[in-house]
Amino acid sequence: MPRAASSRRSAWEIVAAYRRPLSRGLRLGSFLGAVFALLLVGTGQLRSLATVHWSETLYVAAVAAALIGTMARRVRRAALGASHGVRDDLELGSILIGSAYLVVELFGATVFPVVYLLMAFLVAFLPRRSGVALLGVAVLFDAAQSFSPPGTSLPLQFASHVGFLALFAALYHAVLSAQVARGRANEQAAVDRRIREMEERAHDYRLVASGVQASCEGEEERERWMLASVREIEGAVGAAIEVAEITLKTHTCAAFVLTSDDKALKLHDCRSASEQLQREAFSSGEGALGGVLKRRAPIRLCGKLKGITWYERDPGVQSVLAVPIVEGAGSGAVRGVLVADRMEATPFTDEDERVLCVVAGEVLRAIEVERVLSYIKRTRDEKERLFRAIEELNRAAKTAEAVGVAIEGARGLARLDFAALTLVEEENGRRRHKVARVAGVVSGRALEGETFTDNTGLVANVVRYGVPLPGRDVRQVEREVVFDEGTQLKGLHSLKIVPLRAGERILGTLVAGARRHDAFDDDEVRTLEVLAMQAAQSILRANLFEQTERMATTDGLTGLLNHRTFQSRAEEAMLLASRYKKKLSLILTDIDHFKSVNDTYGHPTGDQVLKGVSRILRKTARDTDLVARYGGEEFCVLMPETDLAGAKVIAERIRKEIEAATFDTELGPLKVTISLGVATFPDACSAKQELIDKADQCLYFAKHHGRNRSVTVPEMEAGPRRAATGA
Ligand code: GH3
Ligand code: MG
Ligand code: MG
Repeated sequence: MPRAASSRRSAWEIVAAYRRPLSRGLRLGSFLGAVFALLLVGTGQLRSLATVHWSETLYVAAVAAALIGTMARRVRRAALGASHGVRDDLELGSILIGSAYLVVELFGATVFPVVYLLMAFLVAFLPRRSGVALLGVAVLFDAAQSFSPPGTSLPLQFASHVGFLALFAALYHAVLSAQVARGRANEQAAVDRRIREMEERAHDYRLVASGVQASCEGEEERERWMLASVREIEGAVGAAIEVAEITLKTHTCAAFVLTSDDKALKLHDCRSASEQLQREAFSSGEGALGGVLKRRAPIRLCGKLKGITWYERDPGVQSVLAVPIVEGAGSGAVRGVLVADRMEATPFTDEDERVLCVVAGEVLRAIEVERVLSYIKRTRDEKERLFRAIEELNRAAKTAEAVGVAIEGARGLARLDFAALTLVEEENGRRRHKVARVAGVVSGRALEGETFTDNTGLVANVVRYGVPLPGRDVRQVEREVVFDEGTQLKGLHSLKIVPLRAGERILGTLVAGARRHDAFDDDEVRTLEVLAMQAAQSILRANLFEQTERMATTDGLTGLLNHRTFQSRAEEAMLLASRYKKKLSLILTDIDHFKSVNDTYGHPTGDQVLKGVSRILRKTARDTDLVARYGGEEFCVLMPETDLAGAKVIAERIRKEIEAATFDTELGPLKVTISLGVATFPDACSAKQELIDKADQCLYFAKHHGRNRSVTVPEMEAGPRRAATGA
């Protein structure tokens, strides 16, 4: 359609240059033609075909030209959708009547009914005012014909003509105009019905927006229903603009909406015969539309126009009607403008403005619904993400896991560029803050794992007061002391720290940062708080779980693995060693004459010594070794992938360390020694218990051969006699 329209337009452009003189000429010609016809008929110069000379032929041609010119002009204007005034009707009617009388003059009185028919036609199809005026014109013609040239008088003929003219006019007016009026009324009713439908749909639509639709059950059903409604309203907007296009006979009817900063207008929907319509955003402060937005009132323009900003290149519109799209029945914010234009200078009417205002309302509702829908979708997505994060937090069994889920959950929920989780630690009754996890690098320092003292920074204060901080919007995050004075968060423009609250306890904080300004409104902070609360519960639970697990696997006094755990770990290590054909060594130790330590220094001092010995064992053993309290004052070290020689080296190192150590007691410094038995799989044995038994035998051997020594299986086997002697 636009392509065809554009070629038609270019043809017009060629004609446009000659349009005015041409149309003036035609107008004048037709006027003169009518006058000539009247004169000819009135002066009796045209009485019959027999008396027609070349000069009369010229008059007839002039009348014909005038008739053709007037008709052509009328047809063209009708095609462009322009309306006709009384003057246009009189002009054409007069020429037609003149022509009819001319025909009667030329062909004789027998064709006079042509005049009646013409009269009937004019009266029926033209507005009543024009019809009555033309009846007068016809009577004048008849009078001129009946009473000229002077002296001739045909009053009877005149009376009958006038009588019949009036009769035909009245009859046709009554019958035909009633029909035409009915047709017009139907057309108007159709337009009104369409507008009513649009309003009803808009009403339904408001129900969606305010969420009162109760007939649909289930979230999914509801959403489907809403999406269908949105499609419906979008279709309705298109239809409304189409109705406006047809009713107002526009060249373009288009809705432009303001961008979020109100600085520009962007096309929302349109019906246009032009390809030049502006599809990119354009300034909202200029031209005719700028005026509408500023005044918040409709405008109507006609004539030579400037400020036509809604085309890439103004196609030469001459008539414009633009109405603002305003929220809240005209009192709210302006959202855009609806514009209708025509290529010809036919002014828009009050009725046109009313139609366009209704369409503007429809467009407004579509924009509102789009906004509501995107809000609903956003909050729904947020809710879903929060539930998913909470679910994962509930599943987290380890503290580290819970911390990770909390950080990722917060990042996803609040679109963070920086997130950190700190945990409170108590050491010797003093509070410290540990950065457990960091996501997003905005500090020069590697923060993760860092610990800082209880200071006056934001994190420490959030733990102290249990409220989200900072309370106001910060402009320059790098100026804030978040963790401690030595840490700066760079490149952020929004910051919020929420407490990890579990009941009365505050376990730490969740630090949220974003590069964008004003990232955390009340909703966002509330979401972060809920997430932080869930994270705190999860961390607390994981802590307890880890603690219970620790208690079940370790020894309360020394913190080493307990006997039961040692047994199961030894089992696993043995399986691995036999599968991968690796060596596995075991050292069993026993403190020498420990009974006398207890007896001399007391049981509590004995415990201190046990702790000291266990510390040395842990320190001397390698990371891959398992150190356990085997029982009483006996310890063991299980060493995967370690052969006998290696195990002997370790055993000697332990023995010497303990021999060298001094334990301070109330009764003065105390020194102890230990004896050690060393066995290796698969050299000396083929099963776990056998390995333990062998090591135990070696220990027994050491005890009986002077104590403060380590004995391996080969060493023991090399000297059974000595062992027996020692015993
Ligand atoms: P030996 O050189 O032959 O090993 O002599 P010993 O005195 O160390 O004899 P033995 O190993 O049989 O003695 C174990 C003593 O260790 C018995 C007990 O009083 C003491 N004991 C065991 N468990 C603990 C404990 O948890 N705390 C303290 N203080 N003493 C313990
Ligand atoms: Mg013992
Ligand atoms: Mg002992």
